[in-house]
Amino acid sequence: MLSKEKKTHIDAAARSVLKRFFGYDSFRPRQAEIVATVCSGRDCVVLMPTGGGKSICYQVPALMLDGMAIVVSPLIALMEDQVHTLRGNGIPAAALHSGQTDAENADILDAVRRGRIKLLYISPERLLLDMENWPQNIRISLFAIDEAHCISQWGHDFRPEYTRLDRIKERFPAVPVIALTATADKLTRADIAGQLRLDNPQVFISSFDRPNISLTVKQNPGKAMKLKIISELIDRYADDSGIIYSLSRKGAEQMAAELKARGYSATVYHAGLSAGERAEAQRRFIQGEVQVVCATIAFGMGIDKSNIRYVIHNNLPRNIEGYYQEIGRAGRDGLPAEALMFYSFQDIVMLQSFIDESGQKQLNLEKLARMREYAESSVCRRRVLLSYFSEECTTDCGNCDVCRRPPLRFDGTTVAQKALSAIVRTEQSVGVSMLVDILRGSARGDLVSKGYNRIKTYGAGRDLGAAEWKAYLAQMLQLGLFEIAYNEGNRLKITTQGMRVLRAEVPVTLARFFYERTEPAPKTKATKTPVSSGPADPGLLAALKARRLAIARLNGVAPYIICSDKTLVEIALRRPTDKLGFSKIYGIGEFKTERLWEPMTAVVRNWKLNNPELP
Ligand code: ADP
Ligand code: ZN
Repeated sequence: MLSKEKKTHIDAAARSVLKRFFGYDSFRPRQAEIVATVCSGRDCVVLMPTGGGKSICYQVPALMLDGMAIVVSPLIALMEDQVHTLRGNGIPAAALHSGQTDAENADILDAVRRGRIKLLYISPERLLLDMENWPQNIRISLFAIDEAHCISQWGHDFRPEYTRLDRIKERFPAVPVIALTATADKLTRADIAGQLRLDNPQVFISSFDRPNISLTVKQNPGKAMKLKIISELIDRYADDSGIIYSLSRKGAEQMAAELKARGYSATVYHAGLSAGERAEAQRRFIQGEVQVVCATIAFGMGIDKSNIRYVIHNNLPRNIEGYYQEIGRAGRDGLPAEALMFYSFQDIVMLQSFIDESGQKQLNLEKLARMREYAESSVCRRRVLLSYFSEECTTDCGNCDVCRRPPLRFDGTTVAQKALSAIVRTEQSVGVSMLVDILRGSARGDLVSKGYNRIKTYGAGRDLGAAEWKAYLAQMLQLGLFEIAYNEGNRLKITTQGMRVLRAEVPVTLARFFYERTEPAPKTKATKTPVSSGPADPGLLAALKARRLAIARLNGVAPYIICSDKTLVEIALRRPTDKLGFSKIYGIGEFKTERLWEPMTAVVRNWKLNNPELP
């Protein structure tokens, strides 16, 4: 345990490092404690959601302690991004990985030997390779294991090379290890400390809530309406960007093509592209050259682009962990952001087939079932998410579609009976689409040839639209009135509970389905004020953005490496005209003050000259 005096001393030193190098005035919840714990030499496990501020937890100690910190990271893009950000703050950081030439890596090792590097990012394979002949004279201050969930076979992102990281503790028993992850999966969490052989680690769990991200789930309303909804969302954030995830490469490509046809700048990103194409797509997105990336799940890890305003799921994701991580890429700057998901029965069929091909079938089925519960929830979605992550949550969030428009319930017994009766009368041999067509009295050829037009329930559900039927069937499925036999051509089978409903032994309550109205636009906090600009003057903000872009181009880095949107908004609000004023801005440390105060305050002064009448 730390003495109180020592702790106060560490806290003060940590705060000064935070301001000096990162330009932040205060730590976020838990960060200060974590920094103090690492500085005291104790191992830690840090569980914090994406965007929660994990990096600071090892970067500040790395700057406070003697020697060099080694950060293990699974992805080259992730390492490069972090190194750029650190260098942008004047911190000597470097990365060793296979994406560089031997000569480049040799140069970096040379700098390491001469004690020039404070933070070294390294891939796990590279670390294992170097570990035995690691130069004796280099003092290692700490090891940070980023994306530590990659070590667990239970997780959704298992990487075999991570399992060998247990050797760190063997080889460097006295060096503290801090393992960090945004995974909320309990099994995985429990696995991390053991796998890494951490020594009585202190575990820090932050709330996984991201209240600024609004949550919406919609039953697929049909292609045209879906595209209309997506277009409106993109338009609402015309100056910012977003990601659309699809389950398949084809889905991602089609989405990009549709959006391009509507005049949006979109690009695709999936595992079927070459490494070069993927890097280019990522670069264009980071630089703000494209509005939307249409991706499969392969995209987004390691992107610290803070102004992603929306994440759309074109399909139901595989599990809640992955979904939460993906939507977490939106709104890292804390400003309002939106997560929108579309899902349909077809998604479930597709996911089911993926699972059949995967190992760990039972576990994955269970996870998919929980994902569906979320999508079909009629209670506050945030509560469903947080309870999945074992967080207590006693109030509704007010920022999800269920909270905004609570479902209207009605006695759905007759509706359910019509559908169940049709299932029985077709001898449980049809899938969802056929069932809906029977209920609505369609004349489609295969329906007629099978004689389904002669059953009693044919056309009994004409009063409801197809989308309406699908929504009610989804609810009935959720209520356990029938099942989908995925391994038997997705035919529908009535359950015992369904039989009881059919025999009028129990009533059924359903939530009223509403057809999509896209006008007026859904009322989210985001629609009221253009998020990224807040009450800042748009002209000034645009000029600041342009200047940032020019500086970024000159330095060959992404604009957000120069400074974040939030920093620009603050400059536009506070309008500093001198160095001292500028140094007080959010995200501006000593290094950035030196580098940016002149060009940025010049923009402000110029704006003031041109707008003398404005306050
Ligand atoms: P994570 O790795 O947990 O996803 P990051 O470490 O990338 O999150 O942090 C997310 C964002 O929050 C970054 O832009 C980071 O600079 C910012 N941030 C972190 N800590 C603070 C803080 N104490 N004050 C203000 N901003 C912070
Ligand atoms: Zn809610």
